Amino acid sequence: PPSDESLVDLLREADRGFGARVALDFFGATTTYADLAGQVARAAEALRRLGVGRGDRVALVLPNCPQHVVAFYAVLRLGAVVVEHNPLYTEQELTHQLADHGARVAVVWDRVALLVARTAASTAVETVVAVDLTRALPRRKRWALRLPLARARATRAAMTGPAPGALSWERLVAGASPLDPAHPAPGPDDTALLQYTGGTTGTPKGAVLTHRNLRANAAQGRAWVPGLRDGEETVYAVLPLFHAYGLTLCLTFAVGIGATLVLFPRFDVDQTLEAVRRRPPTFLPAVPPIYEKLATAARERGIDLTSARYAISGAMALPPATVELWESVTGGLLVEGYGMTETSPVALGNPVSPARRPGTVGVPFPSTEIRIVDPEDPARDRDPGQAGELLVRGPQVFAGYWRRPEETAAVLLPGGWLRTGDVVVMDDDGFVTVVDRIKELIITGGFNVYPSEVEDALRRIPGVRDAAAVGLPGGHGGEEVVAAVVPHEDADLDEAGVRAACREHLTAYKVPRRVVLVDDLPRSQIGKVLRREVRDRLLAAR
Ligand code: ATP
Ligand code: MG
Repeated sequence: PPSDESLVDLLREADRGFGARVALDFFGATTTYADLAGQVARAAEALRRLGVGRGDRVALVLPNCPQHVVAFYAVLRLGAVVVEHNPLYTEQELTHQLADHGARVAVVWDRVALLVARTAASTAVETVVAVDLTRALPRRKRWALRLPLARARATRAAMTGPAPGALSWERLVAGASPLDPAHPAPGPDDTALLQYTGGTTGTPKGAVLTHRNLRANAAQGRAWVPGLRDGEETVYAVLPLFHAYGLTLCLTFAVGIGATLVLFPRFDVDQTLEAVRRRPPTFLPAVPPIYEKLATAARERGIDLTSARYAISGAMALPPATVELWESVTGGLLVEGYGMTETSPVALGNPVSPARRPGTVGVPFPSTEIRIVDPEDPARDRDPGQAGELLVRGPQVFAGYWRRPEETAAVLLPGGWLRTGDVVVMDDDGFVTVVDRIKELIITGGFNVYPSEVEDALRRIPGVRDAAAVGLPGGHGGEEVVAAVVPHEDADLDEAGVRAACREHLTAYKVPRRVVLVDDLPRSQIGKVLRREVRDRLLAAR
């Protein structure tokens, strides 16, 4: 249901109701809700003194850590706008986004402070505040951070390290008094977040999300999982908070129910399973590859994961085999939802009960309406049971793309309907199945081929670990289906064999004209296969 308050009020309510409860757990170092609220008040004052005010964008370039949560709420408290960034972005990707939103203050992981400072020449960034992750941990625990640090070092050898002129976040916050409680708080229609889309189909676009949008999605999530108990849950934040999915499911939603958040700077099987012994998860939002790795390792090592009553998968299709594996290891439920950055992000979900239907993304969220229409003419609804483009309307639908009026007008239709760009089909009971993205449809010899259907057939072939299907120029001015296939380590596959096996499951025009064996598939920050990059690689190799 739509709400009239801000995300900041959700934190205040959690502090009031559960002040003594642990809000954050970072490798065993804990922060209570009362501590968190206190740190947010001081950090807000520190940012105010740096000149941050209502409507100003503040860039966060941070992995999951306690300082990330403090900075997030401090920016919001001032009525300013959080912009999240992947700290492992390249200099070019970061520069592009920083220049797009024009933040003057950036709160960044100290390992990338130099890199962010260097972008100042072509962005509006004036002040870089560097966060020292190790300061969130007692000395004897700091070894735990070796892993994420090593990754950063490897990806950008010369670019890590402190930047001259950068301020210290820890010093800034410790030295500030709490913000005057009378300082104006944000209203429901103020922008809370400028969240870049996943970048799967092109350059990420900044989605403008209001406090009302994000509060609504937190409330809808609450209604979705009725078994959750306020003040009693432990939520694992293995997904990055800089992605829409992690931000809502692991942070704003979790704070809304006064949960304890266990923060992981990046997903790692060993670190996650080690935390299970210390603080078992009850709610674990993630993506299919993470469930597979965790369940497989927990089973092999005999680690008890039965605390995990609820697991919520999204962002990409959840294979029914993953559901079986996870549920047999944990005894809990793994259900699939659907959404996008533009819907804060969740729009549909399976019932969190045995009534869920693996293979579907379920039904619309509370107070969310959907339509399935002709992509050529979105005013025309499809007949029941027919595939078409999904439209969504509800309180979680975003306000538009940041400074992109044309792209906004192309997806936000009159009446508040959002074009998702996804083709779906609904069954007689109202359960929705995602078919594919319209943008990635392959048109060959006048026929439409959904790459996901070809990929499903490929994955069923023994010896195939993963596959991506794309359209390359060919045939008669059209496209032809070409597949990149990742074989299992000891598999003995060849192109002719794979094509022959495809013919058993697919009509002739859907069978890939060419099959290229590859070592891996390029993936986005949250783990989606980047078909456009597969296409570029195949074109380059041709
Ligand atoms: P970009 O918009 O920049 O190309 P993106 O669409 O991947 O990137 P997100 O907003 O993170 O960015 O992802 C939303 C998309 O993810 C949806 O439009 C849909 O295509 C896909 N998606 C989300 N949930 C599911 C699901 N359960 N099954 C299949 N696809 C899903
Ligand atoms: Mg998208």
